Amino acid sequence: MMLIECPWCGPRPENEFNCGGTSHIQRPALDCSDAEWGDYLFGRANPCGVHAERWRHSYGCSHWFNLARDTRTHTVLAVYGICDPMPALAAATGDGA
Ligand SMILES: [Zn+2]
Repeated sequence: MMLIECPWCGPRPENEFNCGGTSHIQRPALDCSDAEWGDYLFGRANPCGVHAERWRHSYGCSHWFNLARDTRTHTVLAVYGICDPMPALAAATGDGA
């Protein structure tokens, strides 16, 4: 089980949280093509390495935040605000990409 550091409550077990999916996805313009809209709705990367995700402390403070996680080890690399950009992670570069 992962231990997630809620920015408001501190470290808590994973089962107190819900993952809201990939972070930092930009909604396309209203006049985009069907393919662009479909990709926005359903197309997601499945990286082997660092992945930015939205999480909610559902069984705690109910706040949303972003989390950078290594998908290979489930190591939490960073926790940051829901409106903040992903911090630079010098030590973790994912699958070498
Ligand atoms: Zn919390």
